[in-house]
Amino acid sequence: MSDALLPVFSPASVLFDHGEGAWLVAANGERYLDFGAGIAVNALGYSHPHLVGALERQGRKLWHLSNVYRISEAERLAERLTAACFADVAFFANSGAEANECAIKIARRHHDAHGRPERWRIITFDGAFHGRTLATMAAGGNRKYLDGFGPAVDGFDQCPLEDIEAVRARVGPRTAALMIEPIQGESGIRPVSHGFLRQLRELCDERGLLLIFDEIQCGMARTGHLFAHQEAGVVPDIMSLAKGLGGGFPIGACLATRGAAFGMRPGAHGSTFGGNPLAGAVANAVLDIVMDDGVLAEIRRKSALLRGLLEELAGRYPDLLVEVRGRGLMLGLKTTRPSPEIVEALRARAKVLTIAAGDTVTRVLPPLIVTDKDIRLFAERCDETFAGLSRPAA
Ligand SMILES: *Cc1c(COP(=O)(O)O)cnc(C)c1O
Repeated sequence: MSDALLPVFSPASVLFDHGEGAWLVAANGERYLDFGAGIAVNALGYSHPHLVGALERQGRKLWHLSNVYRISEAERLAERLTAACFADVAFFANSGAEANECAIKIARRHHDAHGRPERWRIITFDGAFHGRTLATMAAGGNRKYLDGFGPAVDGFDQCPLEDIEAVRARVGPRTAALMIEPIQGESGIRPVSHGFLRQLRELCDERGLLLIFDEIQCGMARTGHLFAHQEAGVVPDIMSLAKGLGGGFPIGACLATRGAAFGMRPGAHGSTFGGNPLAGAVANAVLDIVMDDGVLAEIRRKSALLRGLLEELAGRYPDLLVEVRGRGLMLGLKTTRPSPEIVEALRARAKVLTIAAGDTVTRVLPPLIVTDKDIRLFAERCDETFAGLSRPAA
């Protein structure tokens, strides 16, 4: 890596040049099967003609306007997203963390505008990841990210997952909202039970709290449902999106009901770049593809195929692969070896790309357009690699 970059990342040494579908091609011509999709961002794979077309068309027309003018692409995107879920209004940002910042501000303002300014604290959950800005880092509560940056932003109270009594006990006169990922991503693909999400909804209704779902990783058709909460049948008041929303173009969104967003008036929030014409045009092109029942059904079918093949591998290498978990095309392989080792072995030995999560979970996040053929090839290459790593009892 160039030492001109702030050394906060430690990227793999391979240098990619271009990509097509689920494949990345390195500068030296080597082809890699990418089942990481830029951490669930490249939802439609690389060089998808519909996205390239939308980007090129908009690129010749108008890139940026500023929110001091109407932006037709953002208006259309907001209308389509809100029509597809519980929400009435959308705010566009440039990243997931910013979408969550907006969610936090909406929740605090909601209570302030209702004459309860003392309600500004938000309950979050163990293992959460909500971003790397000062507030979203505090919301995640991960010491690894917080240490060394001075006092954490105040206003977040953490609870264990799947323990409604603990949450109940934590809710106080200063609580404004509960914030949760319906499927935790960074900490190791941990789906939250639908029952627990339902209990959180009931608690929020009972105590006048807002429910925030962070669907930045699990949303945008990743689970085979446009939004993960739609499978659970539990509706939030506020939801953040990013990652797959722009198919690789940076855009985040915070969606809310009109009631939750009560208090957000002109000047209450803003963004220079958020929802600019280029980002809006590309995100609309992503929606053209994923907002289709047939496409969603295909994602569910392909996810069953992939999961079945991975579970076969878990049966074959029980000393290495202890669990396959997740939903849809958001899967995690829990291993007895550290995940960075698994990711590196798959990359170096089999030219297959995956993403580490937690300490011992390897994320499998193929592009949603992945073919059956590539799924089978992925499983074959995992098989070969695991055979080399596995140490069956003698
Ligand atoms: C990636 C992610 C974020 C942060 O998104 P950025 O675009 O990196 O700011 C927040 N929440 C979840 C669940 C994520 O997966």
